[in-house]
Amino acid sequence: MRPTVLVVEDEPAVADAIVYALRTDGCDPVHVASGAAALAALGARPVQLVVLDVGLPDANGFDLCREIRRSHEVPIIFLTARSEETDRVVGLELGADDYVVKPFSPRELSARVRAVLRRAAAQPTPAKAAAHRPFDIDEQRHSVRYFGQALDLTRTEYRLLTALLRHPGWVLSRARLLEELWDDPGATTERAIDSHIKALRAKLRALRPDLEAIETHRGEGYSLRERW
Ligand code: CA
Repeated sequence: MRPTVLVVEDEPAVADAIVYALRTDGCDPVHVASGAAALAALGARPVQLVVLDVGLPDANGFDLCREIRRSHEVPIIFLTARSEETDRVVGLELGADDYVVKPFSPRELSARVRAVLRRAAAQPTPAKAAAHRPFDIDEQRHSVRYFGQALDLTRTEYRLLTALLRHPGWVLSRARLLEELWDDPGATTERAIDSHIKALRAKLRALRPDLEAIETHRGEGYSLRERW
């Protein structure tokens, strides 16, 4: 599978050169030109690496890196027009995986991208290290992240998942889950619970096919995996 690389760069000529080099090297580049668009793109699909320009029209790349780091464990390579040591140090302190100073050759950047992707694949990533807490709930926005990636959940799926998350390892019966959704027109029967769980599982598996987050207990109900 071609790794998706999010390119956050507001200069069209620079962005075009990067996108071309990455595509030639077997990556699937996604280009955005602002910090807001970068956050939206990260929420919309799994991304394996971010190439982040430090000088964006709506954001400072370092601030944006902090923002990304709050919810994503994705590797980041900074692009900067300045070669000052402070920029390099700030970038590395923020957990940047590499640093490229403009002007640079797109092929050189692409080689760095591949090196970071190789390292990320070979080493336990921070996401794997934090695997005991794979879910991150934002109750204000009714959204849940799973290993740093936003899940696109229906209202019913969100409520089922948060009910399970409140009691990791507990077996919740279908009747109990129905009680959680008493005012939800989408969940009126125990059979409906099964189909919502099935849809929810498919969304979790799409992000982590190697893990089973929700366990079925025949004749009893469902539980959320306790150990990761
Ligand atoms: Ca710029």
